[in-house]
Amino acid sequence: MGNRARFVIIGADAAGMSAASEARRVDPALAIVAFDKGGFASYSQCGLPYLIGGVVEERGRLIARTVAEFAERDIAVRLGHEVTAIDPAGRAVRVRELASGAERDEPYDRLLIATGASPVRAQVPGLDLDGVFQLDVMEDALAIQGYLREHEPRHAVVVGGGYIGLEMAENLARLGLEVRLVQRGDQLFSSVDVDIAAPIDEELARHGVDVSLCDSVLQACRGEHGRVIDVHTSRGRCARTWCCWRPAPRRTPTSRGRRGRGSASPGPSRSMTTCGRTCRTSTRRATARSTGTG
Ligand SMILES: Cc1cc2nc3c(=O)[nH]c(=O)nc-3n(C[C@H](O)[C@H](O)[C@H](O)COP(=O)(O)OP(=O)(O)OC[C@H]3O[C@@H](n4cnc5c(N)ncnc54)[C@H](O)[C@@H]3O)c2cc1C
Repeated sequence: MGNRARFVIIGADAAGMSAASEARRVDPALAIVAFDKGGFASYSQCGLPYLIGGVVEERGRLIARTVAEFAERDIAVRLGHEVTAIDPAGRAVRVRELASGAERDEPYDRLLIATGASPVRAQVPGLDLDGVFQLDVMEDALAIQGYLREHEPRHAVVVGGGYIGLEMAENLARLGLEVRLVQRGDQLFSSVDVDIAAPIDEELARHGVDVSLCDSVLQACRGEHGRVIDVHTSRGRCARTWCCWRPAPRRTPTSRGRRGRGSASPGPSRSMTTCGRTCRTSTRRATARSTGTG
């Protein structure tokens, strides 16, 4: 990359790669490199429930642009590379190649933190059991698909009646599973008014989904072979299951933390930088960006 100015991006999904494309448009000479700890770049997380349900036939259809296509535009994408720290004074990021464990410093002139949001995992016993999943990234969806193929479960409990929970209930029912949807609040999809949520209940009932409102999962229980067999809920209901778990809220680099103005980034080295509403960070030449609903 020689003496070209270097734009480094942490996180190669929607926010990171749209920024990379825009940067390429405005500056054809810029050296651009994006690091992502995951195995996939620039894909639609929104389609993951439909990949599991078979509506999307294969995962490649969720990928907006491949690593090779980015390379054709002189944008380097390094998957399986986690950024573990930022050195603002030295203008470098520390990168760990996850396959080998090898670490190196990568210099930057401009830095974008596009590490998205991290789901907050609920403190419920049994969530580590085989058969309990959280749906967040492509790897989670592939693990759920693999489990469905291998074990052919007949019952599922979906925890959380937000849009992802609803999409999972829809897709699992489509696959022929008996689905129970457990929602803590007194209505599904709590971000809309009651009269809008009511038809959602009816539609789910039409698809045979058993909705349990004002209920929450207290424990996932072990069955044979260490696999989840049922869940205990606050309304005292048990269900044969495997679970799909998608807790909220999510924390993003741009979300405001409990400490008031600005919050620690959930990405590389929590203490490294803070940012406010404008996405400016406390680190010179570093910006934070996140897309969507996070
Ligand atoms: C199942 C599901 C369904 C969804 N459906 C919808 C929908 O219908 N409509 C909608 O608007 N939104 C939807 N969303 C939300 C949407 O996908 C996100 O808002 C969007 O992906 C955010 O993009 P992002 O680039 O900001 O963050 P992310 O997509 O989270 O990308 C951040 C990237 O940073 C990487 N990363 C994090 N830390 C590091 C590090 N230290 N080093 C290197 N890499 C790092 C991660 O591996 C990740 O690839 C859905 C999300 C999920 C999970």
